Amino acid sequence: MSLQPRTRRTRQRHLVYETLKASTAHPTADMVFSEVRKTLPKISLGTVYRNLGVLKEQGLIFEIPGPNHTMHYDANLEPHAHFICESCGVILDIWDCRKPSCRNREQLQDLDIQSWSVEFRGRCQACRRQTD
Ligand SMILES: [Zn+2]
Ligand SMILES: [Zn+2]
Repeated sequence: MSLQPRTRRTRQRHLVYETLKASTAHPTADMVFSEVRKTLPKISLGTVYRNLGVLKEQGLIFEIPGPNHTMHYDANLEPHAHFICESCGVILDIWDCRKPSCRNREQLQDLDIQSWSVEFRGRCQACRRQTD
């Protein structure tokens, strides 16, 4: 029995995670793939997808649905909101947002809430400059 495959798998997952952790750009799987390839040229896009899935299940990263139905990934678990540009797809972190309050508290009463998110959508500064 060889330990080789397990070691390689662990290394791949670690690298995918570290790549996400080092980025504030909320990359897509494709972007993670091209970054990870610089270190592990033989890694496949499928492997990157699989590792992203495992990391998500482990609660180490989460997905953000971007424009055009592309999934973006974030390894920053500190509660924060996102701004998503509908024109260029850039996703920015918005800090110091309070947990949203709900006027109808009865609706929340019997729910076991694990997380919350706030999302702003619109046009980023760069896109505004181009069209205004
Ligand atoms: Zn933009
Ligand atoms: Zn974020």
